[in-house]
Amino acid sequence: MINSAIKNYLERNNYERLHLKAVLFDMDGVLFDSMPYHAVAWHETMAKYGLDLSEQEAYMHEGRTGGGTINLVSKRERGFEATAEEIEEIYREKSRRFNEFPPAPAMPGAWETIQAFKQAGLTTMVVTGSGQLSLLDRLNAHFPGAFRRELMVTAFDVKHGKPNPEPYLMALSKGGYQPNEAIVVENAPLGVRAAVAAGIFTVAVNTGPLPDSVLLDEGADLLFPSMQALSMQCNKIVTSL
Ligand code: CA
Repeated sequence: MINSAIKNYLERNNYERLHLKAVLFDMDGVLFDSMPYHAVAWHETMAKYGLDLSEQEAYMHEGRTGGGTINLVSKRERGFEATAEEIEEIYREKSRRFNEFPPAPAMPGAWETIQAFKQAGLTTMVVTGSGQLSLLDRLNAHFPGAFRRELMVTAFDVKHGKPNPEPYLMALSKGGYQPNEAIVVENAPLGVRAAVAAGIFTVAVNTGPLPDSVLLDEGADLLFPSMQALSMQCNKIVTSL
């Protein structure tokens, strides 16, 4: 399974081989089990403003900037874009609602996965559309020594956000890597699309309620049902690459 995925990746991107140096981790739904809170916060906040966004749909939009999600729903439900003021107010309310939840726990298997890749000599980085300061600060508490701040890509760095490849291209640039020198670990369809568009070997972990097909259809090279399942295959992935 891993070998045929690598062959497909190399053919698709015109590379002769992978020279793995870094692992780029998405954050929400990969390192932290925070997506259920985000989905509820999105649904309840949009309802408050007369807009319909189900929890399931929130998972489909995962990775977009807040403004991007609000505009998409506004255009669909009302036929026009939200104003900058509306976007700011709605996103502030969504963040407030999210922060009412207790801190999201680390995703089971995330620490084991990070350690396995680090022990293989790889650099581990975080690439997220999140601007939740609480989560960013908690990375160091949960995963000590795993992530260097100057290599992190967050909502404060990017203009477009996922599904645009920009966040992943920026991560490659910050680390000084070529696309075939990294792999991405992603849980969201739009995140997979962004990573694939950046030309990076993409490992999907389906930690949410969506069917596997939405991740595979976006071009994920490998798919695991959980971070625990990925953690047990890290060495196999590293030696295969
Ligand atoms: Ca995610």
